[in-house]
Amino acid sequence: MSCLFCSIIAGEIPCCKVYEDESVIAFLDIGPVSIGHTLVVPKAHAENLEAGSLADAERLMSAVYSIAPSITKAVGADGYNLGMNHGECAGQDVMHTHLHIMPRTSGVPRSFTKTHPSKEELAATAEKIRNEIAKR
Ligand code: AMP
Ligand code: ZN
Repeated sequence: MSCLFCSIIAGEIPCCKVYEDESVIAFLDIGPVSIGHTLVVPKAHAENLEAGSLADAERLMSAVYSIAPSITKAVGADGYNLGMNHGECAGQDVMHTHLHIMPRTSGVPRSFTKTHPSKEELAATAEKIRNEIAKR
């Protein structure tokens, strides 16, 4: 079975990683709706939240709790949207559980339209985020 996010987790496809622990990886979305848009992904493959274990769901939210403030600070945002698309009907394109962290800034309209930053721009954002997470 081929799965894009399993390939990223295995290191077969590059990503702009910002965080990793035993059970979760977080990397920048390649089509961010805002600067710092991050995907938090359980390492164990499951199509969606309830197809995985409760422990994985808890570890996923634990990672969000721990890194979302650093992401927000790193990109100079004021808050964030969390989002998870369950099923094609909900807009899920990648059938491996993932949670979107979308930083938001006061006065900037909340767009859900994808942008197309360069690899260099994404890499620079990821570095800022990693540096902020390292300060925790
Ligand atoms: P969803 O629609 O919730 O399944 O979200 C999947 C997300 O994965 C989209 O926002 C895509 O922009 C993002 N995406 C697709 N391919 C990659 C990739 N190779 N690296 C990082 N993000 C990706
Ligand atoms: Zn997978």
